[in-house]
Amino acid sequence: MTAPPAGVAVIDGLTACPECDRMHVRLPVRPGEKAACVRCGTVLYQAPRWRPDEVLAVVVAALIAFALANAFPILELRVQGIASTATLLGSVVTLWREGRELVAATVFATTWLAPLFDLLAMAALLLAALRGRRPAFFAPLLRLLQAVRPWGMIEVLMLGVLVSLAKLSHLAQVVPGVALWAFIALTVLLAAVLSYDVRGLWRLAGDVGGAL
Ligand SMILES: [Zn+2]
Repeated sequence: MTAPPAGVAVIDGLTACPECDRMHVRLPVRPGEKAACVRCGTVLYQAPRWRPDEVLAVVVAALIAFALANAFPILELRVQGIASTATLLGSVVTLWREGRELVAATVFATTWLAPLFDLLAMAALLLAALRGRRPAFFAPLLRLLQAVRPWGMIEVLMLGVLVSLAKLSHLAQVVPGVALWAFIALTVLLAAVLSYDVRGLWRLAGDVGGAL
């Protein structure tokens, strides 16, 4: 048996505050409600707005939007007077070759790596939890996801990076095509996925799978 991730301390219907360790009896919460620590006010858990299978559907939709955003050209790049359109990854490669390594790395991390990691991690965790399983990767991946999330207000950053890149750089212009709309859809879907409290997945896997 693996240990639950940080912030998820559950012992037979009891839950401990992640900040001050005070124990609480776990009571059911209705959608939209939160349970807070009586001593320090830290949110212990909250009722998810959506069911896990609904979240999974949003994750799949977001992955499709991600694929579309990457399959079609999103930026028009002018290099040595020649204009050509490029996909997101193509733009990153061109920017890197043009000596704009920092911009290339920022665009890659915020618009490609971070959303893809979050979506794939969510898909893997949700699929496992819905089948009542906690495979070996479950706890480490959940911890990693919790550790990474606060760093990126990914959904805000993504579009901002793209727009500021086009505005600030004389090199790039956003192409108003399929990729841009898919990218905007991805931003909205990702905001919904990120609002889901992943700490509930640990408990869900246990509930579906029965007693530990
Ligand atoms: Zn507390």
